Amino acid sequence: MAKFRTLDDIDAAGRRVLVRVDLNVPVRDGAVTDDTRIRAVAPTITELAGKGAKVILLAHFGRPKGKRDESQSLKVVVPAVAKVLGRPVAFADDCTGETAAAAVSALAPGEVLVLENTRFYKGEEGNDPEFVKALAANGDLYVNDAFSAAHRAHASTEGLAHVLPAFAGRSMQAELEALDRALGAPVRPVAAIVGGAKVSSKIDLLENLVTKVDLLVIGGGMANTFLAARGVDVGKSLCEHDLAETARRIEKAAAAAGCRIVLPEDAVVAEAFAANAPNRVVTLDAVPAESMILDVGPKSVAAVVAALEEARTLVWNGPLGAFELEPFDRGTVAAAREAAGLTVAGKLTSIAGGGDTVAALNHAGVADKFSYISTAGGAFLEWMEGKALPGVEALKA
Ligand code: ADP
Ligand code: MG
Repeated sequence: MAKFRTLDDIDAAGRRVLVRVDLNVPVRDGAVTDDTRIRAVAPTITELAGKGAKVILLAHFGRPKGKRDESQSLKVVVPAVAKVLGRPVAFADDCTGETAAAAVSALAPGEVLVLENTRFYKGEEGNDPEFVKALAANGDLYVNDAFSAAHRAHASTEGLAHVLPAFAGRSMQAELEALDRALGAPVRPVAAIVGGAKVSSKIDLLENLVTKVDLLVIGGGMANTFLAARGVDVGKSLCEHDLAETARRIEKAAAAAGCRIVLPEDAVVAEAFAANAPNRVVTLDAVPAESMILDVGPKSVAAVVAALEEARTLVWNGPLGAFELEPFDRGTVAAAREAAGLTVAGKLTSIAGGGDTVAALNHAGVADKFSYISTAGGAFLEWMEGKALPGVEALKA
């Protein structure tokens, strides 16, 4: 794995440390409703404060599009940050200029300050060198602890790393180490499960994975596109018939790379996309014309279980069926429990990410049993697609 400077390498005492964090948390009626992201960055903040740093947090919040917008002020998250950290947290209602400078100079070693939403300035998303300079004026060192924003080359996620000594925070470090275990230098065989709704949203992902993994399980709606490309009649199922050629190309690339593709052998079908819609299990040569495939069937689940038992490493993005609608969650839940059990038994390293995937693993009650769950939606997918993440590249020592 590429070398990153981490908090182990930082001499923070008395220094002003600009820490890019993800505070883009859900808020309802003026209160944070889910503090997962705050808890993720708390170890970095606490460690730096403990080392006597003046900790200055930079973050974006919502999409104010380069203009000050009080309804998207970070002020609302400050009490939640203070609560998670168990210490007072100051706030400055600007991230550059005199207001920010005054708040920073009022900080004593070990104290924590949140600066206002970086996206109040166009220079943030534009990665404008003048804006980078204005942010850098308030810090001696830069720590990036926001993997979830690392796929964006913005001033606070990328630009700052070029003008200040830059370090990966603990949450960034954990994410990079987990991802490296999954696809960097993984224990083989490596299996990937890719599911979800559409092939079109994950073509890059599939094309990269077939060159990296030994086994690719395709499920969910996107399996229908592959099945149709193989000549299966999928009835009224979600299917991108125009991508048949793409599906065949991906199958060829997989064969050339020695990656085995595992497609469903049977399916749970229903006539309505609705919870508890009347349903039955059919083999793939018998999908009724009026039906939709909403989940993988029991034979397919057995094949996924066999694939997992063979694998030593798993990366997973995308549910195997319409898991939000019972009973079409069964295939996803069964696969999730199998992966979790193998992980707990020390037989599998399991990494999963993606908004709906994490929801599905929570629904199956096994998210905490996986080796690593990435809560970074877009950044996790771009990493799985084999793309370089600008915020990560800039941290390489
Ligand atoms: P993630 O957010 O983890 O990247 P996706 O958004 O790609 O995952 O996929 C999740 C969606 O895929 C869910 O809304 C689920 O209902 C849908 N889905 C899975 N299987 C099917 C299917 N057979 N037919 C229709 N939709 C499906
Ligand atoms: Mg999704």
